[in-house]
Amino acid sequence: MEKGTCDIGLIGLAVMGQNLVLNMNDHGYKVAVFNRTTSKVDEFLAEEAKGTLVEGAHSVEELCGLLKTPRRVMIMVKAGDVVDKTIASLLPYLEKGDIIIDGGNSLFTDSNRRTKELAEKGFHYIGSGVSGGEEGARFGPSIMPGGDPAAWPAVKEIFQAISAKVEDGTPCCDWVGEGGAGHYVKMVHNGIEYGDMQLIGEAYQLLKEGLGLTADEFAEVFTEWNKGELDSFLIEISATIFAKKDEDGEPMIDKILDTAGQKGTGKWTAIDALDMGMPVTLIGESVFARCLSALKDERVTASKILNGPDAPKIPAEHKAAFIEEVRRALYCSKMISYAQGYMLLRAAEQAQGWTLNMGGVALMWRGGCIIRSVFLGDIKKAFDKNPKLENLLQDEFFSSALNKYQASWRKALIHAIELGVPTPAFSTALAFFDGYRTARLPANLLQAQRDFFGAHTYERVDKPRGEFFHTNWTGRG
Ligand code: NAP
Repeated sequence: MEKGTCDIGLIGLAVMGQNLVLNMNDHGYKVAVFNRTTSKVDEFLAEEAKGTLVEGAHSVEELCGLLKTPRRVMIMVKAGDVVDKTIASLLPYLEKGDIIIDGGNSLFTDSNRRTKELAEKGFHYIGSGVSGGEEGARFGPSIMPGGDPAAWPAVKEIFQAISAKVEDGTPCCDWVGEGGAGHYVKMVHNGIEYGDMQLIGEAYQLLKEGLGLTADEFAEVFTEWNKGELDSFLIEISATIFAKKDEDGEPMIDKILDTAGQKGTGKWTAIDALDMGMPVTLIGESVFARCLSALKDERVTASKILNGPDAPKIPAEHKAAFIEEVRRALYCSKMISYAQGYMLLRAAEQAQGWTLNMGGVALMWRGGCIIRSVFLGDIKKAFDKNPKLENLLQDEFFSSALNKYQASWRKALIHAIELGVPTPAFSTALAFFDGYRTARLPANLLQAQRDFFGAHTYERVDKPRGEFFHTNWTGRG
């Protein structure tokens, strides 16, 4: 093993790390690897990485010794304290100017802090979102790097080489912004992923309860949907899931318990939206829907006590029309979800002092990642047309699609209410749409109430903004 010959080092040989290493190797980069449990290094070299140029190390010191300078070390370990500990273990063996990259799902505030702390010590830090799961990591993920801009030129070539590419060859990886910007964009990506999955789930349940579609029929419907406006990875894999049979020949989907897990990035997005005062309602509802799904035993009990409506199924002659209404409801709700996600990005940009390229973000999500879809190309076009676009819903493509489809969206929800099918994401999307397009909301009454009980004051429609008034509502002194 020759010292100082490896292009990059990678710490953390779990599923993401291993696949990224093999991807880098495929693109001609010599990678040195280390893992806390060092037997995994030996196993990796003997099995998955057999016959590659990958070099193994049994200590962090050995790993650093294998790297060309300035050293580039990528960390793919469990997010949280483990990242701080791993960074601390590296520092004694690095020199000023070396680069540390965290490619895990770190909280953006941790990346803000780490970028600053390491810059003060003379090291460059990159906090990068990596999306696409195992398959993406192996053959082309979406990569969202942020942190210290001085480090970007040194990792740009490797990252863009291993990332997914859109049809014209553009990499789904570009510089996102300073500090925690990369991890922030990845967090919002994951939140949107929660929303997309919830919307698909609601479409599934609505069609199941309304029409009694079989799993094979679902596979057909989703295959058809994937040929049009909803063309996306999640619709595509859903079609495959519906077609899959268990060993007994029954649909696999019917054998899976209805309790959803979560690792926290959707919750982080919803919490940050609340902190920022941004109405990112669809992601919030999607997180709560997973929480409700987890209360399985309680739901089973409640299902025997609480009655739903006694509505008949959708008549067979309306089957095609209803499927199309649900498709349109899904598409409209998806537009709202992405508009909300981009509202959050805009707010974060201002609060954190980042400059985010919104069209560039859409392009990074266009391929490689879980939310990849044709639709992201439409978002990119909207920001190309107007980089300062205040809200996606104000772009002509989105406003005309919503105006055209809203009647169907409303009909699908009327059916959901009549059937008693829970559609929190579809419903919150429509409520947001109606709120966003309403020039005068009932907040005047709310302000009057606040002034009544707490003298919180209010602004008047007939006076300039910023002038505050108080009324003695009861006439008492
Ligand atoms: P993971 O299960 O999140 O983490 C396992 C890795 O962390 C192993 O290398 C493990 O070493 C190391 N580790 C855990 N605790 C440690 C400690 N106390 N000290 C040192 N090392 C420790 O692995 P992953 O699924 O490949 O994900 C890696 C990162 O990418 C995570 O931040 C994850 O959230 C993110 N991510 C994952 C996916 C995915 O689809 N899995 C997708 C995108 C992003 P040992 O082998 O010694 O236990």
